[in-house]
Amino acid sequence: MAVTILVVEDELAIQELIALNLKKAGHIVLCASDAEQAKKMVNNVLPDLVLLDWMLPDMSGLELAKKLRREDRTKAIPIIMLTARVQESDKIAGLDAGADDYITKPFSPRELLARIKAVLRRRLPEMSDEIIDIGGLKLDPVTHRVHAAAVDESSKMAEISLGPTEFRLLHFLMAHKERVHTRAQLLDRVWGDHVFIEDRTVDVHIRRLRKILEKVGREYLVQTVRGTGYRFSVECEEENIE
Ligand code: CA
Repeated sequence: MAVTILVVEDELAIQELIALNLKKAGHIVLCASDAEQAKKMVNNVLPDLVLLDWMLPDMSGLELAKKLRREDRTKAIPIIMLTARVQESDKIAGLDAGADDYITKPFSPRELLARIKAVLRRRLPEMSDEIIDIGGLKLDPVTHRVHAAAVDESSKMAEISLGPTEFRLLHFLMAHKERVHTRAQLLDRVWGDHVFIEDRTVDVHIRRLRKILEKVGREYLVQTVRGTGYRFSVECEEENIE
């Protein structure tokens, strides 16, 4: 899974070493040497993850983490703190500020990549390459194929043909099953950052997705939660389906 990672680190040797290793692992890397530069970069491109040094020249990494967590646009970005500090109280302060994980310097590139992978799997499951199999639907993010299990014994497993947006939408919903997402959240996470489209675009694509799922008798999996948004659920709640 190639993701965009912002590295905020003022020690250039470390910054370069991290960037090199992340690039080798196939990630897109952005680098900032202080909090101000990091904020500007985040305003331009929303990264999928931030590696944040604790000690920065203009502001502590902890403060920057708090700022990112306070703003709507950036509050969902996974953050991993990098630090030479090892005290338990510092670790707690980092996690309190909204960091998802914590890596103590010095660390090996292998540890760094493993931590990133673990945080992404937990926080952004829709970016994982793993096959998702729920409610009789099997979605493969690598091949972009979706199969539906047979409804009865006489039928076979059927491949479902989805457009790119419907595929991403279904992938996101399945990766975060049983959770309700607002239209704004879906626009942010499925359509992408800085995309100015109307909320009802989401409804249009949800309708298309349901119509396709209807052919294999699975439209009930994509549910409307009145006044809130949508969710993927294997629990059939008739009153919530429009
Ligand atoms: Ca530093």
